[in-house]
Amino acid sequence: MDAAKYIWMNGKFVAWDDAKVHVLTHTIHYGNGVIEGTKAYKTDRGYAIFRLNDHTKRLKESAKMTLINIPYTVEELNLAQIELVRKNEFTGDNVYLRPFSFLGYGVMGLYHKDAPVETAVAAWEWGAYLGEEGMRKGIRLKIVSMTRPANTSNMGKAKATANYLNSQMAKYEAIDCGYDEALLLDDQGYVAEASGAAFFMIKDGEIITPPSDNALASITQKMVIEMAEDMGYTVTRRRITREEVYVADEAFLTGTAAEITPIAVVDAREIGIGSRGEITAIIQSSYFDIVFGRNKKYEHYLTYVDEL
Ligand code: PMP
Repeated sequence: MDAAKYIWMNGKFVAWDDAKVHVLTHTIHYGNGVIEGTKAYKTDRGYAIFRLNDHTKRLKESAKMTLINIPYTVEELNLAQIELVRKNEFTGDNVYLRPFSFLGYGVMGLYHKDAPVETAVAAWEWGAYLGEEGMRKGIRLKIVSMTRPANTSNMGKAKATANYLNSQMAKYEAIDCGYDEALLLDDQGYVAEASGAAFFMIKDGEIITPPSDNALASITQKMVIEMAEDMGYTVTRRRITREEVYVADEAFLTGTAAEITPIAVVDAREIGIGSRGEITAIIQSSYFDIVFGRNKKYEHYLTYVDEL
């Protein structure tokens, strides 16, 4: 990865190489931590962080779900991210921000009430998560053997570190089988989400995406629904089965890092033309217009870091 100059850690900016923890950090052992993934894009007016407040709010809510008391307000964390982007003096088009909170050093054993809480934000330059070629031609998806854990045993709505064991096993299986990314079903056999992105399909002009019952409430998914409806498309949120995916006209993933990634193949079946579909291309370019500040209508979602 590309190192940057500073990381914000517990209220201070520290040099990238000095942002360290003890090996007995509680979260390393038991996995209770929360993360966000937020992006800043280089616009004509300098860097703009996309839907900053929504991401920071979700971090705080994930922490509440997992009983981590982050000692900073949403406003304080927003400011930390704005200043971090400024201070790092990035030059590229794409900056990824990773605000997170975890349980630190000092307490062992599962009961974590007295474990110290650490909060940090890192940011670095990071391009297309699923590859530039994937953005143009579409990626190959495998419905993997892992399912998204049921709500009775996990909290999929929390962007919790622990949930990414499931994601990692899924992703590894997909790549090991020669695919690019994993699609996970829920415990009932309906599409839940990809390892780090939400799923959309298009059939007969209708855009369909599952409810986030067992999945993260994706901010990009919400954005795409709003934007597609504004463009006049019918968007339906309902459960989707595996067979429906195989015969979709088009399909794509959405996520802060994945942005709008077209899907070319699922489990050896070509989706539609087996490349980026027509509506997917429209959604993709409209999304980039929004995040790069080229569409005034959605400007309220952008935080221009140099203008505050
Ligand atoms: N699901 C999972 C498991 C994720 O990690 C992500 C990425 N944050 C998403 C969905 C997409 O969410 P968002 O659009 O808010 O980035």
